[in-house]
Amino acid sequence: MKQCTHADELPHPEPEPLSDTCLECQAAGTHPIQVRLCLTCGHVGCCDSSPGRHATEHYKDSGHPIMRTFEPGEAWRWCFVDHVLV
Ligand SMILES: [Zn+2]
Ligand SMILES: [Zn+2]
Ligand SMILES: [Zn+2]
Repeated sequence: MKQCTHADELPHPEPEPLSDTCLECQAAGTHPIQVRLCLTCGHVGCCDSSPGRHATEHYKDSGHPIMRTFEPGEAWRWCFVDHVLV
């Protein structure tokens, strides 16, 4: 099983969210199903079940490896590079 090293390199404390919803969706007029927070820069983007998939787009554009859920009551993180929960 692959070991994720990206979590060790994340900033502490985690970055302030840049917004409270997916701004790309807001601009495009689409609606996020759920949103994710980038733990490198605080970008908020929508999940892969949303039409825009902007969290994944953000990873492709920025290379920022790890996001966490931005949904109330949930607490998990996902590494885009290793495809594992961290
Ligand atoms: Zn990783
Ligand atoms: Zn979006
Ligand atoms: Zn980012």
